[in-house]
Amino acid sequence: MKNIPYKIYLEEDEMPRSYQNLRAYMKDKPDPMLNPATLKPVSFEDMRPVFCDACIEQELNVSDKFIPIPEEVFNFYKMYRPSPLVRAYNLEKALDTPAEIYYKFEGTNTSGSHKLNSAVPQVYYAKQQGLKSLTTETGAGQWGTALSMASAFFGVDTKVYMVKVSAQQKPHRKAVMETYGAQVIASPSDTTEAGRKINEMYPGTGGSLGCAISEAVEVAVKTPNCRYVLGSVLNHVLLHQSIVGQETKTALDKYGIKPDVVIGCAGGGSNFGGIITPFMAERLEGKTNTEFIAVEPASCPTLTRGRYAYDFGDIGKVTPLIKMYTLGSGFMPSANHAGGLRYHGMNGTISKLYHDGYIKAVSYEQTKVFEAAEAFAKVEGYLPAPESSHAIKAAMDEALRCRETGEKKKILFCLTGTGYFDLSGYQKYNSGEMSDYIPTDEELEAGFKSLPVTE
Ligand SMILES: *Cc1c(COP(=O)(O)O)cnc(C)c1O
Repeated sequence: MKNIPYKIYLEEDEMPRSYQNLRAYMKDKPDPMLNPATLKPVSFEDMRPVFCDACIEQELNVSDKFIPIPEEVFNFYKMYRPSPLVRAYNLEKALDTPAEIYYKFEGTNTSGSHKLNSAVPQVYYAKQQGLKSLTTETGAGQWGTALSMASAFFGVDTKVYMVKVSAQQKPHRKAVMETYGAQVIASPSDTTEAGRKINEMYPGTGGSLGCAISEAVEVAVKTPNCRYVLGSVLNHVLLHQSIVGQETKTALDKYGIKPDVVIGCAGGGSNFGGIITPFMAERLEGKTNTEFIAVEPASCPTLTRGRYAYDFGDIGKVTPLIKMYTLGSGFMPSANHAGGLRYHGMNGTISKLYHDGYIKAVSYEQTKVFEAAEAFAKVEGYLPAPESSHAIKAAMDEALRCRETGEKKKILFCLTGTGYFDLSGYQKYNSGEMSDYIPTDEELEAGFKSLPVTE
């Protein structure tokens, strides 16, 4: 067997030329999205005022295993991909574990995360359709930045509703987005009906992703030749992120490496869905017994403590209903939460696979997550994003269990982004000001009360 290098490189011509569609491998498909007005499955026409046509087609496609990547999109990918796949020799040594640890690092592009993988095709499809502008929301700012980059490249105007607390904590993110020509508005704002209503209902609120989504959708629907784009949660976003898993698998296959455990942090589920896709496809085909672990913050415990129910994607209740694990669209994590992954719901495909027992989920308190981030940064060099550090923490725990049992498990995780844009979180952690907050059952119960009745 060849020695495994620190970085396993891929050539440009080894990059995937198609997106891989996880749902096509599932015998039990996720339940369809519902139109909230009729409670019937949403149709292509229902979604047309909100989303680009090509994205709706992909959203509704549960049968094609592979969907070609357009040439122009592939050419953009070539500027920053393939992304590095690293054997974490130094972390293995620090943990004194017999396990092998691998991570796929998606933070090398300017947006700092995997989000660009979906921004590029989404803007490309909008341009192809002849649309003039796009709206979106952003939390920490990675998605807004990714979309701004793709919009500048393909020449489409973009308006970004940025969660107000994030806009205050991360003013530099706005500067990056504006450099790429995007218009950035702190949400809730007074530019939309949804924003004005939320400001009235929750005076002084720092906003939430769900609230920013309501504003962005409202503007998209009311503006001619404008559509709304989303950086996570939906199935077409997972589809685009499948390039992360496919690149990883091609690289690992060169060395005959089959991961025993695949780990990803889970906000809306897109990077997790992306990294697991080719490995889960094999498991669903009965070829492997790979384990999958989704990692979430204890302060926003969607999979570990949420309900599996139809819910809205946003607090303003303008999106289709998705059958998913959810804390209720009114749920907002406590204000001291700095670790990202704040979304109340979870992608429907990931939810279904979790419900059917193919995926495990764990949650960690944020001080533990930052502790893992620090340990990782000291030996592996990369300063990880707080979101990514949830996966690091789970991978480290798995490797430490191997130390106890002597198992030589092969652990793979997705390092979704760089921590450069979350230095206020690190600052809080370093100064000892970071605390943990775990919602009580009563608090979660209040969120579940906002669930729509669909039966
Ligand atoms: C957005 C983001 C996430 C979470 O989103 P998913 O859709 O769950 O992947 C994780 N890490 C980073 C760095 C992000 O920007």
